[in-house]
Amino acid sequence: MWTCNACGRNFQRTNQHHCCGDQTVNDFLAGRSRQALEILDALTGALRNIGPVNLHATKSMIVIAADVRFAYIIQIGKNFIDLVLPFKTVHESNLFPENSTGTGNQRL
Ligand SMILES: [Zn+2]
Repeated sequence: MWTCNACGRNFQRTNQHHCCGDQTVNDFLAGRSRQALEILDALTGALRNIGPVNLHATKSMIVIAADVRFAYIIQIGKNFIDLVLPFKTVHESNLFPENSTGTGNQRL
């Protein structure tokens, strides 16, 4: 575990590339609708039932990480959250119509 001296965030690898910023998760969530915050609470609650996760804000997204970053909230709407789960390989999704496959990074 390595802690960046500039931003105080913890990373798995020493000197791991990242953007030090002063944006907080609360900054990112300021002004969001109650419904969007409830969706985020449900999402993070479900993830924390699996294991510990941390949220980190950047200028344009919230990063969800355990030992490594594994998901990104790239947009929060009035009644939705745009969550990106990057995969190295294509996985069929049960959220898309039959006979549909994803393209690697699927937006749900
Ligand atoms: Zn940093």
